[in-house]
Amino acid sequence: MLEIRAIDTFYGETQALFDVSLSVGEGEVLALLGANGAGKTTVLRSILGLTRPKRGEISFQGQPLSRKQTHEIARAGIGWVPDDRRICPTLSVAKNLALGIKRTRYRPWSLSEVTDIFSALKYLMAREAETLSGGEMQMVAIGRALLGSPGLLLFDEPSQGLAPKIVDDVMTVVRRLKGEGIAAIVVEQNAELALSVADRVVVLSHGTVAWAGDASVLSADPALKRTLLGGAL
Ligand code: ATP
Repeated sequence: MLEIRAIDTFYGETQALFDVSLSVGEGEVLALLGANGAGKTTVLRSILGLTRPKRGEISFQGQPLSRKQTHEIARAGIGWVPDDRRICPTLSVAKNLALGIKRTRYRPWSLSEVTDIFSALKYLMAREAETLSGGEMQMVAIGRALLGSPGLLLFDEPSQGLAPKIVDDVMTVVRRLKGEGIAAIVVEQNAELALSVADRVVVLSHGTVAWAGDASVLSADPALKRTLLGGAL
């Protein structure tokens, strides 16, 4: 579904990604792990055309993304749940959700399906988004992304700053989406959490791919986990 081939991505003169390749299949969950500054967010920004790779190629459903604008990439069916959530603070929850609505070639989601998943949102529709808790904002960010009918969802640190119960709910949603055929890339500092939902894993280190393989292989090998992830465990 998504294929990244040998990308180099820069911020000005500073190179953040070196020859990074990875792929995500239909309905597959890929955990993208690594320490602070390893380049995880930059991979997502590269896919979305927010920080374009200088070299290499990214394609989605066989179509190259290199000449597409970010809104065209979104319309192709790639959704984003950013780490800072990017909720419009002075708009109501209902309006924030409505901002995400669009059609793609993938399964459309109705508002009632979103509120079936996040029942708390039903009672928050009229609330100004800036008054929400971190967990409620995360629900809005994921709900908004679903209303955009994604085939592939990019989650950037979905557990960051959330209470353990909410983190569990978010991971349940990732599993449920997988059941609906939605592929995902889950960027996480919390490696155990990401491994609990992932089919495959890519570990980044200093902007390069340090390891790629099945989540079950990494989960079953504590020594490899310690070597690759150290402090991220
Ligand atoms: P974190 O978990 O801390 O967000 P990360 O793995 O997502 O880490 P990135 O945010 O992708 O890492 O950063 C990769 C490298 O690019 C780091 O060295 C970082 O300092 C640098 N970088 C990130 N954003 C910018 C920017 N806007 N301008 C310059 N350098 C940046």
